[in-house]
Amino acid sequence: MRTCIRLAFVFCLLISTSRLFAQAIPTDIKDAALELRDAAMQDSIAYDVVESLTMEVGPRSAGSAGDAAAVQWAVKKLNSLGFERVHADTVEVPHWDRGTLDVRINAPYAQSLVATSLGGSVGTPHEGVEAPIVRVASLAELRALTSEQLQGRIAYIDHVMERAKDGEGYSTAGRIRACGHVVAAELGARATIIRSAGTSTHRVAHTGSMRMNKIPGTIPAVALANADADILTYAVNSGKPVTVRLHSTARELPRVISANVIGEVRGSGKLANEIVILGAHLDSWDLGTGAIDDGAGVAIVTAAAKLILDSGHRPRRTIRVVLYANEEFGLSGAESYATNHRSKIEDHVVGLEADFGDGAVWEFSSRVAEDALDIIDELHTLLEDIGIERGDNEADGGADLTPLRKAGMPVLSMTQDGTHYFDYHHTVDDTLDKIDRDDLNQNVAAYVTAAYVAANIERDFGRLPIDTSEKTCAAEFDGDD
Ligand SMILES: [Zn+2]
Repeated sequence: MRTCIRLAFVFCLLISTSRLFAQAIPTDIKDAALELRDAAMQDSIAYDVVESLTMEVGPRSAGSAGDAAAVQWAVKKLNSLGFERVHADTVEVPHWDRGTLDVRINAPYAQSLVATSLGGSVGTPHEGVEAPIVRVASLAELRALTSEQLQGRIAYIDHVMERAKDGEGYSTAGRIRACGHVVAAELGARATIIRSAGTSTHRVAHTGSMRMNKIPGTIPAVALANADADILTYAVNSGKPVTVRLHSTARELPRVISANVIGEVRGSGKLANEIVILGAHLDSWDLGTGAIDDGAGVAIVTAAAKLILDSGHRPRRTIRVVLYANEEFGLSGAESYATNHRSKIEDHVVGLEADFGDGAVWEFSSRVAEDALDIIDELHTLLEDIGIERGDNEADGGADLTPLRKAGMPVLSMTQDGTHYFDYHHTVDDTLDKIDRDDLNQNVAAYVTAAYVAANIERDFGRLPIDTSEKTCAAEFDGDD
């Protein structure tokens, strides 16, 4: 018995020391990945893709004619680039039309305001809504109001989003956009106005979705451009009663069939059925042409996979590009993909998503099993030369990969510089001229390196614990305001 334990101990020691000195990524795979990385820096595919999508299709919000055109465009584009098994997987999506919007201060003086409806907002009655303003600076302040204070009035949530390289300011601002109307409606408000969840200093308003779950009756919700929020705040601070009038024809239309568009670089050999996902979303908001959100992501993942396709090194695992339907309005494509592939979730070895514009990648993080971290460490050494720091193992992997991650799929994350992302995000200013070719290519370089390594090493990244948590407004209210 004792000999047996001793033998087991020696065996264990041998395994762990061999792991210590062994390479997590074999040299030939590293060399091929570096070749692809360097080729990506000189490439033009990514820019060509985002140019074609934004110029030939343009805005493509879920359920719109542009959405249908984008699906056709994507099938044609992936086919013409030589991807394999290109197909459109149908997905039912909501269809919301923003109609027209007019917002103006009526008292203490008249002033027209630049505003946009938030995604999913109902319109106003035909005669509009005119009511006094109650200003708060946070969700916590809004929640502290009584219904007597808000009943029959318009809630104005005046939170200034902070600019940050990692986009951190968006978590609070996005939460206000998503859930402010729920609180306001519960307290009897007639409408909700927020200061845009964005950092633009131009006179443009930022749209974006609201969380629609568990709302007791809906009220119109709009966002003001930062400059116009300043005007309204000044009026409120004058101490005189302020009334605002809103008129909106926003409305919900019947649901529509859209699609996730999928194309592959097929693997070969015994690992060919295993999948490395490269994801981005095909839909965009309707105001701009969806260049940074998420034409850039579509371009990055398509170009990365195309480089591997053309390299002559067929990967061992299959690289699957998934261009998701309707990310903006509630992850319809992501949920549908996870449901359709439920029996094959285990085949999804790892995923990478691109959905944060074209800013250069500055950090590489992951969420993988602990015993796969040596692979991440070595993979990072291939990214250092293109300016990428090593992050932690707490990555969330992106919105569209959430259902797969929660079902156990590990994720790799290329954190992009988001300093200017929220100047354009969800506005009329999200157009092709904001795309920087060199930064876009640096992204492709990072994605192709990681995708190539993930698709070719013998080992995998383990599995993540199953996560059943749900993101509701009630859960958000427990967070920090
Ligand atoms: Zn996006």
